[in-house]
Amino acid sequence: DKGLSSDEARKRLEQYGPNELAVSKGVSPWELLFQQFKNVLVIILLLAVGMSAFLGHGIEAIAIGVIVLFAVILGFVQEYRAEKAMEALRKMSAPTATVVRDGEECEIPAREVVSGDIVVLSTGDRVPADGRLLESMSLQTDEAALTGESLPVEKHAAIILGEAAVGDQKNIVFSGTVVTYGRGRAVVVATAMQTEFGKIAGMLQAVETEDTPLQKNLDKLGKTLAKTALGVVLVISIMGYMRGQPLLEIVIFGIALAVAVVPEALPAVVTISLAIGVQRMVKRHVLIRRLPVVETLGSTTVICTDKTGTLTKDEMTIRKIYAAGKMYDVSGSGYEPKGEFSVAGKIVAPTPSLVELLRGGTLASDAKLIKEEHGHGIKGDPTEGGIVVVAAKAGLLKHDLDAHMPRTGEIPFTSETKRMTTLHRAGQSVMAYAKGAPEVILQSCTRLWGENDEQELTEKERKMILEQARTMASQALRVIAIARKGGVSIEESEKDMKFLGLVGMIDPPRPEAKDAIKQCRLAGIRVVMITGDHPVTAEAIARELGLLTTEKVVTGAELEAMDQETLTREVDNIGVYARVSPAHKLRVVAALQKKGEVVAMTGDGVNDAPALKKADIGVAMGITGTDVTKEAAAMTLTNDNFASIVAAVEEGRGIFGNIKKYLMYMLTGNLGEVALIMVTTIAALPVPLTPVQILYINLATGGLPALALALDPPEADLMSRLPRGLRSGIFSRPVIFLMLVGGLWSMAVNLAVFLWALGSGRSLTQAMGMTFISLILIHFFKAYNFRSDRHSIFRKPFANKWLNYAILWEILLLLAIIYVPFLHEPFGTFALSRTDWLVIVLAALTVMPILEIAKLMIRRTQA
Ligand code: ATP
Repeated sequence: DKGLSSDEARKRLEQYGPNELAVSKGVSPWELLFQQFKNVLVIILLLAVGMSAFLGHGIEAIAIGVIVLFAVILGFVQEYRAEKAMEALRKMSAPTATVVRDGEECEIPAREVVSGDIVVLSTGDRVPADGRLLESMSLQTDEAALTGESLPVEKHAAIILGEAAVGDQKNIVFSGTVVTYGRGRAVVVATAMQTEFGKIAGMLQAVETEDTPLQKNLDKLGKTLAKTALGVVLVISIMGYMRGQPLLEIVIFGIALAVAVVPEALPAVVTISLAIGVQRMVKRHVLIRRLPVVETLGSTTVICTDKTGTLTKDEMTIRKIYAAGKMYDVSGSGYEPKGEFSVAGKIVAPTPSLVELLRGGTLASDAKLIKEEHGHGIKGDPTEGGIVVVAAKAGLLKHDLDAHMPRTGEIPFTSETKRMTTLHRAGQSVMAYAKGAPEVILQSCTRLWGENDEQELTEKERKMILEQARTMASQALRVIAIARKGGVSIEESEKDMKFLGLVGMIDPPRPEAKDAIKQCRLAGIRVVMITGDHPVTAEAIARELGLLTTEKVVTGAELEAMDQETLTREVDNIGVYARVSPAHKLRVVAALQKKGEVVAMTGDGVNDAPALKKADIGVAMGITGTDVTKEAAAMTLTNDNFASIVAAVEEGRGIFGNIKKYLMYMLTGNLGEVALIMVTTIAALPVPLTPVQILYINLATGGLPALALALDPPEADLMSRLPRGLRSGIFSRPVIFLMLVGGLWSMAVNLAVFLWALGSGRSLTQAMGMTFISLILIHFFKAYNFRSDRHSIFRKPFANKWLNYAILWEILLLLAIIYVPFLHEPFGTFALSRTDWLVIVLAALTVMPILEIAKLMIRRTQA
């Protein structure tokens, strides 16, 4: 009963090691650093260094060498950060297990389970280690992962004599299998590689690190850019060769240009944006389990959400009770077992019928009332908690009742049956109690329990009771009916029962849910409620939350009567689905998807898993959710709160936006450089940049500032835009327009600076140096423009502190290159005069208004 002590558990953990399958280790930092040198571009650059040195261009060789070194370090840091971030994410979604330690049930990471631990198993759990069952309440497990047996296996605690194969060990639960029904307790006999699952280690569950569609697309883009770059380099080289440039010069120049154009940081920057965004989501109570969902999130058009616990607080307080023809009001708040019963405003003492109703409800519940720091709380299902608390208000304490009438059997609650029945020993006899949805319980009742007698349950009474239930539901109360039957076996218990009465409990909406729903409206996202609760209760709460306006409420039974085509036709007009089973969720998702919607769907029970898998974004509940649902879901809400889904959508939009900012910035820069070199080559002008200058530009602008853009704070109005189409990528028309404007303007400005310098009688080296500096400055200014593709740069221009630091740092480096004499030769720079500065800064600055005018034009056409 007490389980291991935490001391003993710790000792065993030290002695036998953690309960995890041996997985292959990740890449070590050294390997990662070494990998940088395997990069083709780096190898080519190193070759260039060797060639320059060999031919006596010592300074050039050193300069390129240093740049390569920096590039390698930068690449390493980027990838190391990305790797670390991913690792942190993997750790956060590690599985947990419920065990008994020091006499208390507690949840621990599954890797800390040791032999001898008592594990508590309930429907939807993944078994954390191999264990011998001590207790089984209709426990069934799915062992397909282990034995290939596709049907659930019934498990019991009885002794099996003789040898038994794995599939026949009915009193053992196996690590890695899933509880599909019932409850149980087992003592752990094997962990980690000693488990049956560990023995077939070939089935190691690798951590999923699939690339997101965006990553795949950008990968393709990177390759296309690389090919284009090679083409451009080839053309420029051939033209240079025909003009009689020395071959070596052409080769090194070509290499530099190719390196500048290929976006080598792209994959790392994208991974970092995704991973950092995902970490930000953790703070907002969202755990991402599959990276691709981050992108899909931003495109969400419909959120289908549970009611209980997600939109509401899941703190059930019973307000009304109907027993033996009387309607009682109950006072008190929360889970405090203090309150009075009154009929029509007059306080009354609990009558025998009321007491029997409360006794039945409490005995058929698993929740416990517990003392907490400030008052009382409950452990277990809140619906049951509400019943246990109201019984305590009448002086009926659960543990007394349990001691008096111990439970001997049960039929567990499922979302399909919407009821639960338990069997108890009552002296020499037995008594069954059931609780569940009123219409379900009424159906198995034939008699009505009165104050001191009982009578037949006539059609008229049935109608009357349902009417009472309806009245309670219309006040947003969740209604549960309770019934009993004496002297039966558990199999016979759910027939011919005696109806005891109804309890109605309030479950207040979460205050933040209302705001979140409003926010969804603004963001063009529809919110649909899917609940197991009564339609009238559901509708009342939906209206309170502002979720329902002109839409309809549809029940599971009505849904059943519709074929899929009708549902698809109607689906846009339905705001609430009530009294549905998990299977219905699947149909709703299918219908919405048929309509082209991008659907997020929440769930907590085992049977919700298929719907979560089918949805574009499966959302599992972190607190009430089962392991199976969490595994099927793409993300988990650690606080079960609807508002967190909306926060995740916002973050998803933000991440996508930042990747867009980075890409716009980087590609415009590349376009500007390549266009400049192309134009000068075609016009038979001298080359405006040296290879070292090109490499430096690539490093200075593509490194820190680009990374900083990927960390930009999201734009404020993200949630008042319509969802982005799932298939519309980053390169929308406005984005391409902005990139063309930015790139071509940069080319024109730099060409003008170059020609002006040459025309003013400056040397070619000086003209090149000025072009070099103006090109870098243009990049810096543009970085601020590209913080948004639609809003003015004057909206909080310096909000991104990382970008400010990065630019400041780069400016310091630039000043060093300009003013430290021994750097003049390698970088082709010189101490600029005041006129030089004026010309360069003014020319470079023009890119800002030009891009802002382009944005204005975009805003105009979109408005
Ligand atoms: P949601 O899907 O919004 O979370 P829900 O929690 O109301 O809705 P279920 O948990 O499937 O959905 O409950 C469906 C119905 O089953 C409830 O309306 C209630 O009548 C009944 N019910 C819920 N919990 C219990 C329980 N522990 N024992 C007996 N009946 C229950």
